Amino acid sequence: MTVDTKATVAHWLDNKPFGGTSERTAPVTNPATGRVTGQVALADVADARRVIEAAKAAFPAWRDTSLAKRTQILFKFRELLNARKEELAAIITSEHGKVLSDALGEVTRGQEVVEFACGIPHLLKGGMTENASTKIDVASIRQPLGPVAIISPFNFPAMVPMWFFPIAIATGNTVILKPSEKVPTAALWIAELWAEAGLPAGVFNVLQGDKTAVDELLTNPDVKSVSFVGSTPIAQYVYATGTAHGKRVQALGGAKNHAIVLPDADLDLAADAMVNAGFGSAGERCMAISVLVAVGDIADELVTKIKERTETLKIGDGTRGTDMGPLVTKAHRDRVASYIDAGEEAGATVVVDGRTLSADGEADGFWLGPTILDNVTTDMKVYTDEIFGPVLSVVRVETYDEALELINNGPFGNGTAIFTNDGGAARRFQNEVEVGMVGINVPIPVPTAYYSFGGWKNSLFGDTHAHGTEGVHFFTRGKVVTTRWLDPSHGGINLGFPQNN
Ligand code: NAD
Repeated sequence: MTVDTKATVAHWLDNKPFGGTSERTAPVTNPATGRVTGQVALADVADARRVIEAAKAAFPAWRDTSLAKRTQILFKFRELLNARKEELAAIITSEHGKVLSDALGEVTRGQEVVEFACGIPHLLKGGMTENASTKIDVASIRQPLGPVAIISPFNFPAMVPMWFFPIAIATGNTVILKPSEKVPTAALWIAELWAEAGLPAGVFNVLQGDKTAVDELLTNPDVKSVSFVGSTPIAQYVYATGTAHGKRVQALGGAKNHAIVLPDADLDLAADAMVNAGFGSAGERCMAISVLVAVGDIADELVTKIKERTETLKIGDGTRGTDMGPLVTKAHRDRVASYIDAGEEAGATVVVDGRTLSADGEADGFWLGPTILDNVTTDMKVYTDEIFGPVLSVVRVETYDEALELINNGPFGNGTAIFTNDGGAARRFQNEVEVGMVGINVPIPVPTAYYSFGGWKNSLFGDTHAHGTEGVHFFTRGKVVTTRWLDPSHGGINLGFPQNN
């Protein structure tokens, strides 16, 4: 296939597309057809600096724009997004591959954060103490940081950036979004929508690129914070490099989420949940369940129920009303398939084999069906590694304590779930499990926008989770002002340490 290497997906600054000076590009592919649909620009250092300068130049005026005006723009953005979200969902499906209904779901979850940010005047209210000392008042306020960077992964082209930018913008920062080069177009669509909503030029910018762009964002002194979501090794690198350059960093990493099913659970509910959470978005969700821990003698019955449900799933092009689409790239598809090979070789039982399937889509799509591996043990690579595909591993244990130990011994701590009808067991689990987001009979416990999203251990570097009040905190810094209005009675020299009296 001959491919024109001229960039067709550009950067965005000053409310218009920006081609940049870099000659480098990367192909953008539709995973359901295998065809290259465009070329995304890959920034060089000069391009990155140009975008950072635009964000820096726009900051003072945006910081000083009234909350009333900022909120009006947020409401307008929310209305436009709500009216046109099918367009964004279609872009996501064409570059990521997830089915349209799922793409729409991610936009809707992102929109929740926009709605949360519309209430920013309330969230930014400071504290004030009158007469902290005689005729001395003390007030606390929170102010924006400046230009902030958001670096996002391929698996949620709209929702993950939306965990951050509505709050960053609402609190008075200017934004540089660096999307995944695999799914670069959603960010541009969002940028156009901001312009239409009346956001001033330079407040929301898009920098397309790879490590070169990321490294400039991590080291450039004009970038004040970095919100990163992606794989653990890169999250660790981003955290170490960004903080070494004096930036505030929140870096969300990978996951290996376990669901425990206790013997008293409703097995039909649990089986539905395993299929939905294991195979939705082809398992390419950081909150996907990839390990089912079956406790006691229910394992055979539960696995049978999951198998029956899995075999009814329609796999194919996400625009054709299917349940599950392709994987994001051919390389990723092959990597996930190689894990299934390795699991089988290591002795796992292949209950449903996604390597053999006929998909409702073009032959060159990156197809791999849902796969269930039973009798997986903790020494197998299929258990230890984040696979990020439609592979559900089943580990069988005898007791709740063994199940808990598995989770707490793992390196990740993003999400987990327990299925049980025993309130005491559920309460114990919520207390004992070392994971940031816990579901009780809920397989994908993604917090709503007014709570905060984030994992523990290798699933998050930094101490601030995304959105909710933690998001407001991340994108602002505190200032405390102590005030005394001059009064003749306060004259005179006194070198003693100021006392409250
Ligand atoms: P990735 O780490 O490959 O890429 C993430 C971002 O980092 C992209 O913008 C990419 O361009 C950039 N990047 C890649 N390599 C880089 C390098 N060497 N130096 C600097 N920047 C680099 O992740 P991905 O494959 O796009 O996304 C999947 C991963 O993201 C999975 O591990 C998944 O668990 C994780 N994820 C985590 C969460 C969470 O909330 N914890 C949410 C979504 C995805």
